[in-house]
Amino acid sequence: MKVYLDNNATTRTAPEVVGAMLPYFGEEYGNASSFHQFGQRAAKAMNEARQKVADLLGVTAEEIVFTGSGSESNNYFLKGVAARAGGGHLIVSAIEHPAVLRTARFLVKHGFELTELPVDGQGLVSPDDLQKAIRSDTILVSIILANNEIGTVQDIGALGVVCREAGVLFHTDAVQAVGKIPLNLRELPVDYLSASAHKLHGPKGVGAAYLRKGVKPPFNLIHGGHHERRRRASTENVPGIVAFGRAAELTPEDDYHRERIIRLRSKLEVGITQEISEVTILAREAERLPNTSNVLFHRLEGESIVMSLDFEGIAVSTGSACSSGSLEPSHVILALGFDHAQAQGSIRFSLSRYTTDEEIGYVLERLPVIIHRLRNISAL
Ligand SMILES: *Cc1c(COP(=O)(O)O)cnc(C)c1O
Repeated sequence: MKVYLDNNATTRTAPEVVGAMLPYFGEEYGNASSFHQFGQRAAKAMNEARQKVADLLGVTAEEIVFTGSGSESNNYFLKGVAARAGGGHLIVSAIEHPAVLRTARFLVKHGFELTELPVDGQGLVSPDDLQKAIRSDTILVSIILANNEIGTVQDIGALGVVCREAGVLFHTDAVQAVGKIPLNLRELPVDYLSASAHKLHGPKGVGAAYLRKGVKPPFNLIHGGHHERRRRASTENVPGIVAFGRAAELTPEDDYHRERIIRLRSKLEVGITQEISEVTILAREAERLPNTSNVLFHRLEGESIVMSLDFEGIAVSTGSACSSGSLEPSHVILALGFDHAQAQGSIRFSLSRYTTDEEIGYVLERLPVIIHRLRNISAL
């Protein structure tokens, strides 16, 4: 049996999405900027896709810029705002995705100042802490909407209000949230937002940047032709954009699937806590993404669990990254207050609309055996 529970890394491209995209790799090869019919058909398809992505977010099509990825959208907002300001102070949370965290730290090397806000034991940023961190020279606040490792969903409304009141631009990396939880940007005090198609059953290599109408745009990251209303040069990735639109259109279906995914996750978590001792389910008290469960298996290293599960056909991931022969624990789990040793035993299970009851049953059959065996070895 093959069980894919690594949907926060990437998702299966939905068959409907593949179907929508294929013609644009074939006979519909026009450049969306061209005047002739080939180009106009591509432009029409792209504009329909833009509307679908806008509808999913509750915004207008003119507020959406397509990019090459979620990482690019994040880089665009941080570097583009920094370039426009020419100096100043940024605020991010301690649990950002590397595409925000490393970009912010890169800016520090180039003369900007940075505050990395701590989170509580559930991964939540406090609006009070944010308010205290904002300075007169703060140019941007960037806080991840839903964390990719532990699933914590921030109170983005409350954090945005703090920024609004202080007159500071507010960006959120919503790559994990879009398509998983309902979002209505008309009602959220967010200026800029990043999304990525491949986290919602679209293809890799296409992202979106939302810029609220009336808010100053960042400086461009990519200069060249007049694409994307002059916000991002590059002949548009028409197949990818059409696919993103189709993926966005399919996600309302996820409202229906959300309850089912939550039920499967509960089954997994209840099974794990019943069958395996010394485990901690991270961010369990917080509002979490419905599909995400991050479990610490104490006295073990995540890498060996990932390998053993892979051997059984089960795909999961660990927050720790193997760098120069030593395990570097996840900055997210450390930020929750766990020490290095504890943080190494973390395993992220991330489900999708394709996850089945049988698959979770299979995991619950194999996992306890693996953990028991690994603990016996490590006790030797
Ligand atoms: C995957 C991810 C990204 C990066 O998106 P890409 O399209 O893979 O570059 C950024 N932020 C979060 C929270 C993610 O999960």
